[in-house]
Amino acid sequence: MRAHALIFLGAPGAGKGTQAREVAKCYGIPQISTGDMLRDAVQRQTALGLAAKARMESGKLVPDDVVDGIVEERINRPDCKSGFILDGFPRTISQAQFVDRILAAKGEGRPLVLDIEVTEELLLKRLTGRRTCSVCGEIYNVHFNPPKVEGTCDKDGGKLFQRADDNEATIRQRLEAYHRQTSPLIEYYRGQGVLLALDGDRDPEAIAKGLLDYLSKA
Ligand code: AMP
Repeated sequence: MRAHALIFLGAPGAGKGTQAREVAKCYGIPQISTGDMLRDAVQRQTALGLAAKARMESGKLVPDDVVDGIVEERINRPDCKSGFILDGFPRTISQAQFVDRILAAKGEGRPLVLDIEVTEELLLKRLTGRRTCSVCGEIYNVHFNPPKVEGTCDKDGGKLFQRADDNEATIRQRLEAYHRQTSPLIEYYRGQGVLLALDGDRDPEAIAKGLLDYLSKA
């Protein structure tokens, strides 16, 4: 795989986290999820968490400078030397330009951008049905991929939880933020010739297989 930086693009619920996890495992590179980092900061009640909490709960994006800062710090850690995956970042044109500047300063080429495209009806089912393991972060879905025992992770018995922002009102706001602020990135990256569109309506295993096949040849 040539590209050093992989970016997962797609609406909330498209499966960015699930696919990023598979690629991270396969290539042994870190998955950098801004959503996970922000949720962790909220839980630990750090200054960052306190600044981000209200916006996250209402489904709005956290300001660019806040997110840019945490991503820059994370990318500069040694484990990112042989590659990294950005999951949920960038989400605005300004954030994309920030990534371009960081990669240029490191002497890196352009990122490879994987856009997971999912129909709106399916997005809603994925978001309302999503459950996450509180121990290992494994993602389930009560409609499509339920755990063997309700509320419990198959892998480690951890308790599953539903994200606070996976409720209908917040989901509507998050989709609106995606359409208005994030979807212009599709044209931005298409114009750079680095975009690969993936049919995200398929089941996660089929998407992962196609994606890993593509990356092994890329
Ligand atoms: P996610 O887990 O990627 O769905 O993100 C959850 C929430 O975290 C989003 O609805 C935003 O409030 C915030 N967030 C995550 N990534 C970003 C980003 N790149 N820019 C701004 N806000 C973000």
